[in-house]
Amino acid sequence: MLTLGIDIGSTTTKAVILKNGTEIVASSVSAVAVGTRGVFDAVDLAFHDSGITPEDISCIVATGYGREMYRNADHRISELTCHAIGAYQLIPGIRTIVDIGGQDAKVIYLNDQGQMTGFVMNDKCAAGTGRFLDVMANILTLNVSQLADIAEKSGNPVRISNTCTVFAESEVISRLAGGADIPDVVAGICESVASRVAMLAKRNPVVKKVCMTGGVAQNRAIRTSLSHYLGVDILWHEKSQLMGAIGAAIYGFRKMQE
Ligand code: ADP
Repeated sequence: MLTLGIDIGSTTTKAVILKNGTEIVASSVSAVAVGTRGVFDAVDLAFHDSGITPEDISCIVATGYGREMYRNADHRISELTCHAIGAYQLIPGIRTIVDIGGQDAKVIYLNDQGQMTGFVMNDKCAAGTGRFLDVMANILTLNVSQLADIAEKSGNPVRISNTCTVFAESEVISRLAGGADIPDVVAGICESVASRVAMLAKRNPVVKKVCMTGGVAQNRAIRTSLSHYLGVDILWHEKSQLMGAIGAAIYGFRKMQE
């Protein structure tokens, strides 16, 4: 049985087709999200790349910030539930999920059965989200995917003292003008995101195992820094950006089993 999960975020749309609720047979990430063609592009791409057709799909589940806009969905559920379902299946025993996306950061707390017991969220401020990294990468004419490798060359990370993204942008520009090394600046940018999110996570007890999901989880320097701030190992899965869509497709499979 094939099920399709679509996670319509603020920055990207992710589509995943799962076979029998476990095996990823197709996936795609489209860089544009709510209010654009990105949603349809992501779904079309997943079908195109796999040769699977819409008629082969037993159930479609939409999640994420823009889930209401996808009219073809059989079910719509929150991305918190989807990240919890996806992460618990891919990383058994997970108890705390740190999901950093394009415009928000969420920490989801699970019990030992994988059920969500609570969450905290920052969706008010770009600091501590992918948006902060996107803005900073833009100043440095880098791609966000390059930040971790560059940060790891740093011997002396610059401390970014401004928490506001707009002021932090000016601070980074003045540090660069003052001759700071790029790796030190990039390491400071990654640490800034990790420290903000660690503060958010610590609003509740952070129980091990802890993992990162969302697009920013792909940044190894942030995972390392978050591990330092929380004092725990940070697990992750290479499909971390797809976790919400994976959880949605698993949910669809379970619904069909009922
Ligand atoms: P949302 O679901 O909120 O739309 P995502 O979970 O897809 O967002 O995360 C998007 C963010 O992930 C981007 O803003 C960017 O900063 C970051 N990101 C995307 N690709 C990479 C990558 N290859 N390495 C590091 N960070 C990345």
